[in-house]
Amino acid sequence: MKSSKKTYQEVAEACSKYQPVSEEYGFKNSSCECNTPSCLNCTHFTDQEHCDLDLYDQIVERIK
Ligand code: SF4
Repeated sequence: MKSSKKTYQEVAEACSKYQPVSEEYGFKNSSCECNTPSCLNCTHFTDQEHCDLDLYDQIVERIK
């Protein structure tokens, strides 16, 4: 399964649970694309690059 940066963005845009990380989480002044919805900046995305709500795979299936 592809899991490119673009896929993470498409998934987050289609995800009803997308929750952007706030500045309190340390992204302030970083170079992350915080204004673009993406699993990569979602609070539900874990260090293991896994959605802790297990929504990622379902959404990828739906949007591909
Ligand atoms: S990490 Fe999970 S909850 Fe967050 S946007 Fe991606 S699929 Fe949705």
